[in-house]
Amino acid sequence: GFRNSCNISFSRALFTESFHRLLSTQTRGKLEDKVALITGAASGIGKATATKFINNGAKVIIADIHQQLGEETAKELGPNATFITCDVTQESDVSNAVDFAISKYKQLDIMYNNAGIACRSPLSIVDLDLALFDKVMDINVRGVVAGIKHAARVMIPRGTGSILCTASITGVMGGVAQHTYSISKFAVIGIVKSLASELCRHGIRVNCISPFAIPTPFVLGEMSQMYPHVDAQKHVEIVHNVGVLKGVNCESNDIANAALFLASDNAKYISGLNLVVDGGFTSFKNLDFLAPDKVQ
Ligand code: NAD
Repeated sequence: GFRNSCNISFSRALFTESFHRLLSTQTRGKLEDKVALITGAASGIGKATATKFINNGAKVIIADIHQQLGEETAKELGPNATFITCDVTQESDVSNAVDFAISKYKQLDIMYNNAGIACRSPLSIVDLDLALFDKVMDINVRGVVAGIKHAARVMIPRGTGSILCTASITGVMGGVAQHTYSISKFAVIGIVKSLASELCRHGIRVNCISPFAIPTPFVLGEMSQMYPHVDAQKHVEIVHNVGVLKGVNCESNDIANAALFLASDNAKYISGLNLVVDGGFTSFKNLDFLAPDKVQ
């Protein structure tokens, strides 16, 4: 009797211990004690990344031009998320957002320049709307440069930091989007390489992620203008059907996972990289139509 009950309480103690160990390894995140600022984090990819970072122990500043949505998102994500209004085309807004992170948390470990807009412009270069071109460049390109400038200002003295940007597969190959957007994303990949070359001397890593199309509000807005005669579910389907990797679709969470990796110490020797998350889409051309049984 005594031996049995001893055995039971011993195995119970063992179980409790391993259970707690399991719990603590699961709750000890990859970004414990890190502070991240994410632009355009009120929705879509930025929001998914903010959620993932917080679940991994980070404190996150959500910087977005959309005040109401940003406040709602911060509330939804809890006490480790804080919203600040920020229009990335205004250098003072970007500078303030960085200073806010420092005043609230005393440090900035991760700067994710994710804010960006899509645009619908005439497809031919002959008809290109240059006013729209300037507007898109202002947000997608100049906004990213401003973000890196001000993040570097506070990261250089600490000699450490991880800077991320959202580029796109439309910045890897031509013909996937209209010129203005595509050009803006080609620029983001160039910005990352140019700035990684300087910031490496200060222990700061600079990388970007190029997502495949994801049916976020951003893309769905485009789709509803392009295909007003079909419903939202069909818009999602069209986007997913362009993907080449069977059985899975590209989701914001896939980009959040890539961002978590690049932001964390697991990527401590990775800089200047464009991490393409596209299921292989930009790596090959599908020549199935040349298969012997397809050629009559
Ligand atoms: P989204 O529209 O859901 O999110 C973009 C966020 O940026 C919004 O919350 C918006 O309010 C904010 N924003 C817009 N202009 C801003 C400004 N001037 N200052 C601050 N914030 C601003 O779209 P998303 O798909 O999550 O896009 C995020 C990034 O991902 C963009 O850079 C986009 O180009 C890129 N991207 C998206 C896809 C896709 O298919 N969804 C694919 C490749 C790249």
